[in-house]
Amino acid sequence: MNIHQLFQLQKLDTEIDEKKKRLGDVLKAQKEPASLQKKRQRAETAVETLQKWQTKHQDLTLEVGSVTTKAKNSENRLYSGKVTNPKELSDLQQEIESLGRRKAALEDEVLEALVMIEDAQTEKTAADDELATAVADWEKHSAHLKAEQNELALSLHKLMQTRKTKASMIDAASLQEYEELRKQKHGTAVAGLRVNMCLGCRTTVSANKVKEVNEGRQVYCGGCGRLLAML
Ligand SMILES: [Zn+2]
Repeated sequence: MNIHQLFQLQKLDTEIDEKKKRLGDVLKAQKEPASLQKKRQRAETAVETLQKWQTKHQDLTLEVGSVTTKAKNSENRLYSGKVTNPKELSDLQQEIESLGRRKAALEDEVLEALVMIEDAQTEKTAADDELATAVADWEKHSAHLKAEQNELALSLHKLMQTRKTKASMIDAASLQEYEELRKQKHGTAVAGLRVNMCLGCRTTVSANKVKEVNEGRQVYCGGCGRLLAML
């Protein structure tokens, strides 16, 4: 077993693991945040509200027109001289009055609709402005993430190529032990030794073991069970 080679491999694997984790985070972070979705929702609601009041205003205006026409027809008939029956004349007069009241009420509603349209337009402008700012901010932010994603992908590709080359130079038995140890020890099979401290678990290693590590022998940390290598 060549501990130096395994330690090189370990350093590569640690870097690959870190970059893979960061890549996952970067991908996740590119999802549109809830705050932006909320602003999108506000802008959509503003459009719906505006359209609702515009339709209402249109309907009311048409109804005012229809009531006006009806009243005019009744007036024409009333003053035509063709109606002589007092009951019919009285009915016509009542109808004209009733249509007049209806028209006045409708005109009040038209005014109310106009006020609501104005409010809805104000809200729509505010919502659109807020959304545009948020989208611009988000695009700036995600452009940065997208660039990082590309960098990570490229870097990972290179690292994995290097890893393949390095691994091919190590004997199968050592490689297998390394892989198994890595699985058991949260990704770190080979820990660096700083003077006499294992960097895998921060425990002190005996002078005898330090000497063996210095000689390039296969030594395991008594604290964490990892292979030890001189930094
Ligand atoms: Zn240790």
